[in-house]
Amino acid sequence: MSDAASQAQAVELTRRMTQVASKNRKRRRLRRKKTKKVKAGEAASNRTGLYGLIVSRRALSCMQLVSTYNKSELKGVIPVTLSVLEGKKINAFLADLDQPFTVDDFIHVMESGGIRGDFGFLKDIARLEFFIREIEESQEAVDEVRSVKINPTLHIFESSWTGIPEFMRTMDPALLSPADHPEIIILYKSSASGSVNVRTASHAELLALKIIAEEIDPGELGKDQGISLKAVEDLIANAADSGIILKPSSMIIRDPNRFPRGKNIDGEFFSSDFFTLQWHITQACDLKCRHCYDRTDRPAVDLHRGIAIIEELRRFCDSMNVRGQISFTGGNPLLHPDFFHFYEAGKEKGLYMAILGNPATRDDIKRIIDIDMPEFYQVSLEGLERHNDHIRGAGHFMRTMEFLEILKDLGVYSMVMLTLIKDNIDQVLSLAEALRHRADRFTFNRLALFGEGAGLSLPDKKAYRTFLEEYLKAAESNPILGIKDNLINSIKIKKGLEPFGGCAGYGCGAAFNFVSLLSDGEVHACRKMPSLIGNLYRSSMAEIYSSHEAERYRMGASACARCSIRPVCGGCPAVTMSHGLDIFTEKDPMCFNDG
Ligand code: SF4
Ligand code: SF4
Repeated sequence: MSDAASQAQAVELTRRMTQVASKNRKRRRLRRKKTKKVKAGEAASNRTGLYGLIVSRRALSCMQLVSTYNKSELKGVIPVTLSVLEGKKINAFLADLDQPFTVDDFIHVMESGGIRGDFGFLKDIARLEFFIREIEESQEAVDEVRSVKINPTLHIFESSWTGIPEFMRTMDPALLSPADHPEIIILYKSSASGSVNVRTASHAELLALKIIAEEIDPGELGKDQGISLKAVEDLIANAADSGIILKPSSMIIRDPNRFPRGKNIDGEFFSSDFFTLQWHITQACDLKCRHCYDRTDRPAVDLHRGIAIIEELRRFCDSMNVRGQISFTGGNPLLHPDFFHFYEAGKEKGLYMAILGNPATRDDIKRIIDIDMPEFYQVSLEGLERHNDHIRGAGHFMRTMEFLEILKDLGVYSMVMLTLIKDNIDQVLSLAEALRHRADRFTFNRLALFGEGAGLSLPDKKAYRTFLEEYLKAAESNPILGIKDNLINSIKIKKGLEPFGGCAGYGCGAAFNFVSLLSDGEVHACRKMPSLIGNLYRSSMAEIYSSHEAERYRMGASACARCSIRPVCGGCPAVTMSHGLDIFTEKDPMCFNDG
């Protein structure tokens, strides 16, 4: 910017600052009236005890501003402060500043030069800008850590003014101007970009910092405050996402030396922060579906073993630096006599939980919510009423529709899954319309021709591709339509659209970010196909996950290895296997990607 332009900007800024001063005076008057309300709000947050917590300064390394500066450096260090000071004839009151000077010397000159009262926030802005410079030049490494710790460049700044970070961003006091009410600002170097972030700290972030700084046990804190371990760990995870806390990287990663990287596939598809156990706790079921993939006779997991499995899952997730989820399923998981004990134990261990089941009673759902709100409750429908009831039994369609109302009423996120076959492909979009205002999500999976489903058939490749095109089009206007089948990525890429995560968020996720556990301890890479990788009653999850067998399923078909979208696809090995093909060498028989 030219000097003339910068002078004009300074004049304009000064004019607006004068308006701000008058607004601040009005605000002070208004705030006196609001004091009572604010106090009531504070009392409410103190009742929870959560957000009244202040980070112990002793536990944080507090940065001191001890560097010295020369006047020639000021332009590069405190640009916002100078923009405002220009209009206040900075040269007049900087004349007395001896060089080199400290930040405190500078602030002292500002104050004696008349920057007080309505312009008092400039003092805080100047200090913040000096802190930013210190952090930019800090040699502290913001990189890989072995355990959770506070970002070593983090500085907590207690400002007497509210809105300073926003003001510094916009530099437009007509839109935003600091108000003389204290707030806590955090400054830290981002590990991703290396740039310094400056923003107002939220109560949740301060609490996360307190937990780490003072080594508070998240489980104990949750018990004290009557909140779940998962909620406390969410606070820490969010703080880690924003970069104020550093945590060890996930070890659920696609091996960079072996797994195909594809072309232009985002790094997020190679590493998962979650690991899911799809747990079939019982084979007992109140339905008798024509396409059921497993009617084998296996004993239900007993209470003692079930609790041990939950503890083992938590151990495994901790060792892999990820959060854990259990998707309870069966059979019908709610028919297991100890389902609620398992659900309670999952909550105790801080696990995310979901249910893949059949329609249940309102009382059962309330009981589940009383323990912990599930991430989602998934039920199945196979088409419109006639076709669905032919597959799943008379009356099932209406029972499911009524059940979706219960879920909606109780605020549970509902998902409807359809198993796609040749006979229901024409009903998918009509069913999606019928569910538009009843379910939160609707999606489908292709049938793998195993078990009872071996007698049914899939559409041919051409018909399936046409259907996927129509489905994607319909998804543009029907917000409940979820996309899941990995093969959709071929279409998306050809249309120049961003790929999505596919079946499990990482293309085929079999033995990668989830495994299936059967009620007798057998662990399978994916429940849609026989894919035994171990037995949890005889080996640990870590042993099973790192086994040669698991690795083979994770790698998938060699025929896909050179495909540009492999990281978000891999076809569906269960469909491949059910066609009698070798899933480790041959690709999905319905793949239409010739590139
Ligand atoms: S070859 Fe086909 S099935 Fe395999 S990754 Fe590519 S698109 Fe998917
Ligand atoms: S085998 Fe098929 S259903 Fe199972 S995770 Fe892979 S793509 Fe999904």
